[in-house]
Amino acid sequence: MELVDIGANLTHESFRSDFDAVLERARAHGVDKIVVTGASAGGSRAALELARSHPGFLFATAGVHPHHAHEYDDATDALLRELSAAPEVRAVGETGLDYFRNFSPHAAQVAAFERQLAIAIDTGKPLFLHQRDAHADFLACLDNVRDRIPRAVVHCFTGERDELVAYLDRGFYIGITGWICDERRGQHLRKLVKLIPSDRLMIETDAPYLLPRDLHPKPSHRRNEPMYLAQVCGAVASARGDDIHETARATVASAETFFSLNL
Ligand SMILES: [Zn+2]
Repeated sequence: MELVDIGANLTHESFRSDFDAVLERARAHGVDKIVVTGASAGGSRAALELARSHPGFLFATAGVHPHHAHEYDDATDALLRELSAAPEVRAVGETGLDYFRNFSPHAAQVAAFERQLAIAIDTGKPLFLHQRDAHADFLACLDNVRDRIPRAVVHCFTGERDELVAYLDRGFYIGITGWICDERRGQHLRKLVKLIPSDRLMIETDAPYLLPRDLHPKPSHRRNEPMYLAQVCGAVASARGDDIHETARATVASAETFFSLNL
């Protein structure tokens, strides 16, 4: 079984000591392509470096997460534009709005989001989006530029049915994480994933976050890593009533199309 992890924060410090082993385990568990998330100026530069040193296996995104939006200035914008021009960078983001944690003021989040939407429009690279508790403002920003933006994926979707329908109506792709493996807070997602057309469904670990809660045996640590992507694939497959291999094939095909992974 082959899998593509469309969102892993491999520049996170928790991977520093055993990075090569993490990649080896990923490959051994069928993950043969990983898109490394860029979530800050420095993190995006580091993600590109990782992609450059693992051609054909690691790819990168370049963006500033809403948590870091208050740091977004002209220099950040110039850097993201430079990084986005690199062939290894396959999407603009992680960008969007997060009113759950509010680590940056709303106005700063909207401003940074709009500037990154402009980068996607100018470069034609797809968007890797994050939204939490900010659905209305998030849609308003996207709808302002609706007919100019390229493909978009709402990563780590954990929302409600109306949010999902709004994204699907706009043609967006959806990224599902190990949130769906959570026997409590993942329940509603199990019903919703059936609504996602298979050619717009993708899976991700969001490592080192969101370790699937249904791993047996339970790891002694809480760090998630790409090797656990099959667990997410299995949970998505069973929720959709599909064979796991079918879900694997469909999500790989979606990811290859979305991120142009075969080019
Ligand atoms: Zn996110």
